[in-house]
Amino acid sequence: MSADTPLNDSAAKPILIIGAGQAGATAAATLRQLGHTGGIVMLGSEAHAPYERPPLSKSVLSGEQADHEIGVHPTAFYDENTIDLHLGRTIASLDVAASVAHDSAGETIAYSHCLIATGGTARELPELPAGTPGVHYIRSLDDARGLRAALAALPAGETVLVIGGGFLGLETASTALTLGRRVVLVEAGSRLLERAVPPALSEWLSARARHAGVDLRLGRRIAKLTHTPDGTSLMLDDGAEVSASLTVVAIGLVPDTALADAAGIAVHPVNRGVRIDAQCRTNIANVFAAGDCASQFQPLFKQEMRMESWQSANEQARLAAAAMLGVDTAPQAVPWFWTDQFGCNFQMLGAYDPALDYILRGNADPDAAAPKFLLLGLDNGHLRHGIAVNAGGDLRQLRVLIEKDLPCAPAALQDTTLNLRQLVRDAVAASPAAPLP
Ligand SMILES: Cc1cc2nc3c(=O)[nH]c(=O)nc-3n(C[C@H](O)[C@H](O)[C@H](O)COP(=O)(O)OP(=O)(O)OC[C@H]3O[C@@H](n4cnc5c(N)ncnc54)[C@H](O)[C@@H]3O)c2cc1C
Repeated sequence: MSADTPLNDSAAKPILIIGAGQAGATAAATLRQLGHTGGIVMLGSEAHAPYERPPLSKSVLSGEQADHEIGVHPTAFYDENTIDLHLGRTIASLDVAASVAHDSAGETIAYSHCLIATGGTARELPELPAGTPGVHYIRSLDDARGLRAALAALPAGETVLVIGGGFLGLETASTALTLGRRVVLVEAGSRLLERAVPPALSEWLSARARHAGVDLRLGRRIAKLTHTPDGTSLMLDDGAEVSASLTVVAIGLVPDTALADAAGIAVHPVNRGVRIDAQCRTNIANVFAAGDCASQFQPLFKQEMRMESWQSANEQARLAAAAMLGVDTAPQAVPWFWTDQFGCNFQMLGAYDPALDYILRGNADPDAAAPKFLLLGLDNGHLRHGIAVNAGGDLRQLRVLIEKDLPCAPAALQDTTLNLRQLVRDAVAASPAAPLP
């Protein structure tokens, strides 16, 4: 914290948070943790207080976790921390020159600083717009409730068609299988998760999904789509036909940045995210952005991108809150992402890069009940990308190797008779500057 910067120097006007989701709720909490005692106003379009989205395709969809258990903070948090939370209210326009926002009810809110944390909307298939009977998208709690009810009502033996083999499509397919449904998944890419994981893991995951029971149509484009009250029928580009009364479309996210764009805030021409610097500032001095709607240069990926992850939403919110208050804070953590599917917990640290040499540690039998292994992406013996499958406990060690940029012999990393913790301790000991993990 910089001692000479007064907190709350613009306390008369509140800090406005647009979007009551993961990033918005984390920013509000961070502002209070950092000592901000001035006003915080948070508006969210949805009727629900900020909640975690990851369970929507997993435990909430399966019914294992109750809807009320997924709040980002306990319900009382907002009152206890004097956060002025308005639900079911949308900011319709921003006047950044005057530092005021206008909401859909016609009210005007003057702000000292503003955080745009508007997330995004599920990308729609033009032939199956949201609201089409029997067709589901999965972005919000209301979406998850609708899909959960539809899965429960699906007659035994009928098929769920999942269009899109990204993280969301795969998780939804996995959950539908655990609920005893048949699943056909159509993915246009030649391999699963092409931009996120190396080919070896894509192949492994395909085998795992098929072993679990998914009828996986990989590398298949939709040649013809017909929708009737009975469901969706696809003709694929190999001539195969697929029909289902229940369809889930999971083909990506469109960031909600029209508000920023209309206000003259810089938006990336390709990924459509609000452009932010390392402190999450936009091109307007007192306007910040965080989460799925934000586009930021990612040093590990060597490019500007929208991260679309729980951790990134939290990290950017933390950095934005600190920057608003003029407080020094720890730099952004190494990217971390997790997904749960087909009986496996995948955790990924760092960034996928096709130029890395990937090595395997452990036994990667896709048919095993609970396979456990690491896939490690190395650049000349330096770990850049660590993937832990049912081995989240090893992440702490991998984090040390990545954060300290310590070299480690690939042969030693592959040798499961050698203790990983000891290997990392040895690597740290060989590097005088790095403290022991
Ligand atoms: C089903 C699902 C599963 C996921 N699983 C994982 C996972 O396993 N691991 C992982 O790392 N990440 C996962 N994610 C991603 C993660 O949840 C998101 O990256 C994170 O929620 C992004 O937070 P956010 O605050 O940017 O957006 P959101 O949480 O979407 O919040 C944005 C909020 O802003 C509101 N809003 C938009 N415009 C306005 C406006 N003009 N005025 C007022 N309010 C507005 C929206 O209604 C929304 O409520 C998952 C996401 C989904 C949907």
